[in-house]
Amino acid sequence: MNPNIPEDIIERAYQGKTTKEDALFLLEVPPFKLFELADRLRQETVGDTVTYVVNRNINFTNRCIGNCGFCAFCDNTGYILGIPEILEKVRDAESQGATEVCIQGGLLPNVDINFYTDIIRAVKTEFPHIHTHAFSPMEVYHAAKQTDITVGEALTMLKEAGLDTMPGTAAEILSDRVRDIICPGKLKTDEWVDVITQAHQTGINTTATIMYGHVETIEERIDHIMLIRKIQKNTSGFTEFVPLTFMPYNNKIGAEMIKQGRYATPGMQDLQLYALARIILNTHIDNIQASWVKLGKKLAQVALFCGVNDLGGTLMEEKISASAGSTNGQFMSAQELEWFITSSGRKPLQRNTIYKPILSNDSEQMKFKVA
Ligand code: SF4
Repeated sequence: MNPNIPEDIIERAYQGKTTKEDALFLLEVPPFKLFELADRLRQETVGDTVTYVVNRNINFTNRCIGNCGFCAFCDNTGYILGIPEILEKVRDAESQGATEVCIQGGLLPNVDINFYTDIIRAVKTEFPHIHTHAFSPMEVYHAAKQTDITVGEALTMLKEAGLDTMPGTAAEILSDRVRDIICPGKLKTDEWVDVITQAHQTGINTTATIMYGHVETIEERIDHIMLIRKIQKNTSGFTEFVPLTFMPYNNKIGAEMIKQGRYATPGMQDLQLYALARIILNTHIDNIQASWVKLGKKLAQVALFCGVNDLGGTLMEEKISASAGSTNGQFMSAQELEWFITSSGRKPLQRNTIYKPILSNDSEQMKFKVA
């Protein structure tokens, strides 16, 4: 194991020019050296503030015509929420102080773009101040195909209906080799990049994700993060990067892994990925988010010292990880989130979806760097 990080690699990290070879090298240094570099970059980029958003997940259906081998959520005898039930959930979220609803669901066979725009329009009509963070690139692609319109037209219709931002999910690993194994029916790498790029060009910001820890290689993880950086250089449309470790229970890919004696990623590998994401994306994407649902609350707290500056949302109703074996809860109150940030020696700050602070103290706002 190389004991130190050479100066030229550190220099490139500061300049936002980390190469694939640098990233591979960084995985060979003692992990705490890697964490230290990521933590320094985090400190210089966003300071000691740790942000979170008060939000609610709404999964409007768990029925799906997809065939993703990692999915434990879809059930073709499952539920479909109507608009009144969705609005009831938004009302509940609002009464608990939510500023965002994150709306996603399975792919239904008999719906077109109007199904999606109707949801957004209904939410925005009754709750104009609630931020709609909705529909993955796969859902937008599906809606466009079902309607026989282009992705660009679908995005424009969604924006006109009131869609504010989109989750950058369905990215999984942006490698067609991996996608052919884990989600052969899903949009290909180029198609994901196309939907995301067009969303950014339409004025719809998105998050960026990676779902790692199944059949991909370390190099494919690095290539994925480098591709996210390349898109960001073109569009500046990503608000954050969110590594999501694969949950191996109740799904086909996980069952195969468990047969071979492989379970979830080791915690140290999760932390290395967070640190690597901070380093590769430095100067390009300021916000690296840890998922407390996937990592567990205590490892998410440790991730704050490995390049992470955001803990995502309160969620209120998390179903997708729970169905794949997460036992970390489906809701965390803002009070608990603040406690575990403060007890790490950092400063909690509630943000909205696009990283604008929600607070009354102007001096704090000055210190807070927005995306
Ligand atoms: S991950 Fe999404 S698209 Fe794939 S099967 Fe599950 S619900 Fe369907």
